[in-house]
Amino acid sequence: EILKAPRAYDTEVLWQKDKDHFIHPFTDFSVFHEQGCDLITGSEGIHVEDSHGNRFIDGIAGLWCVNVGHGRSEIAQAMAEQATRMAYFSTFNNLSNAPAAELAAKLAELAPAHLNHVFYSCGGSAANDATIRLVHYYFNRLGKPNKKRILSRRNAYHGTTYLAASLTGIESNNWDFDTLDHLVTHLSEANCYRRPEGMSESEYCDHLVKELEDTIERIGADNIAAFIAEPIMGAGGVLMAPKGYHKRMQAVCRAHDILYIADEVVTGFGRLGHFFASEAMFDTQPDIINVAKGLSSGYAPLGATLISDELYEVLGTPQRKGGVLSTGFTYSGHPVSCAAALKNIEIMQRESICDNVREVGPYLEERLKTLAHHATVGDVRGSHFMLCIENVADKTTKKLLPVEARVGDRIAFEAQQRGLIVRPVGHLNIVSPPLIWDRGVVDRVVETLDESLAATTATLKRDGYL
Ligand code: PLP
Repeated sequence: EILKAPRAYDTEVLWQKDKDHFIHPFTDFSVFHEQGCDLITGSEGIHVEDSHGNRFIDGIAGLWCVNVGHGRSEIAQAMAEQATRMAYFSTFNNLSNAPAAELAAKLAELAPAHLNHVFYSCGGSAANDATIRLVHYYFNRLGKPNKKRILSRRNAYHGTTYLAASLTGIESNNWDFDTLDHLVTHLSEANCYRRPEGMSESEYCDHLVKELEDTIERIGADNIAAFIAEPIMGAGGVLMAPKGYHKRMQAVCRAHDILYIADEVVTGFGRLGHFFASEAMFDTQPDIINVAKGLSSGYAPLGATLISDELYEVLGTPQRKGGVLSTGFTYSGHPVSCAAALKNIEIMQRESICDNVREVGPYLEERLKTLAHHATVGDVRGSHFMLCIENVADKTTKKLLPVEARVGDRIAFEAQQRGLIVRPVGHLNIVSPPLIWDRGVVDRVVETLDESLAATTATLKRDGYL
């Protein structure tokens, strides 16, 4: 009852405190200093509510993470019980806790067969960062200390710790930030929509695989530790790779003793209709899979690195007498976060949430594609509950509108006026909802987007951009 009771906020005061003191991530400060932030103060099921009492359909699951939907008091209860019983204790030096142990076993059960070992962190960036540290350690242990370089891809998003930001290939994400360029080489993104003109999908796949082979030849397999890839690139624009791409990339990596790391921070935990998409959808068997976000449905910060038996054999052997695996975080295996994740998984299984995604996802895709007739819509793509609209100035040449037209922001604004939150990323609008949408919700959302796109076309024309 207490959890559900409405809470009064002094919106004006909070708005000011936020504006004066909170350094927001990924925020345009030229806008922030003027406008501050909207406060989101309530959430339930597929909806969120702001401090003025406006209610919106959440089209982005928080930030691709609230997979089981908002307001699950069962999860809150599980967290409260764990926090009351034992909120925190170390997992270093031969200590553990019940939820961390249970969850590790559960993840091993759900993951592809050879991934049976779990390293915990606090989110996706930290999981990727810890992974690279472990991969380097692994090769050092095998007597291959030169295997250090990580192959990533342009437009990849792997987070913003120093190392994860260096893996990230979205150029604007690192404007005026430094990156660890000696550790990372970026290959081309796999992007069927913007593939070289005249190339068939299968020729495009050959082309990308050849780029990998050429890069390995140039740098030398002895200097390359791993290739990291999102099964479908998320923040980079929900980019779809050509059919068979991941499987072939993995085969090349394997042939050169290069580890294959799948960053499933977004694609995992049901977004594509499976707990893990790598094997189920892309027929790959990564050496490492990273998950976060949907692992706890965002109810608590948590990341996990799933590690193969083969790697564990090396990582799980002391490097010298008395040596320990000296990496990890105070909150690795945090009991309250792990309790949230366990309850989240229980809900996903009990409510067959992956089945819902496999059933409703194709319908969402099909319905969103009906928006392609709008003047700005160049492409509608993605899979299941991970979708995106790419806006362009010209559908034939795929030329973009000028940045200052802020087309993504305009569409998001029009949608928000009509009670729907979709995420603008430059000229893109991302739809990545909680996994509990049904067909009725999909119809409402597509109607709203239809109106929002029409309204945006009108304002773009008014302002001389179309
Ligand atoms: N990897 C991918 C694919 C992501 O989309 C994200 C976040 O959006 C991250 C890693 C970073 O996760 P976090 O923000 O939890 O550090």
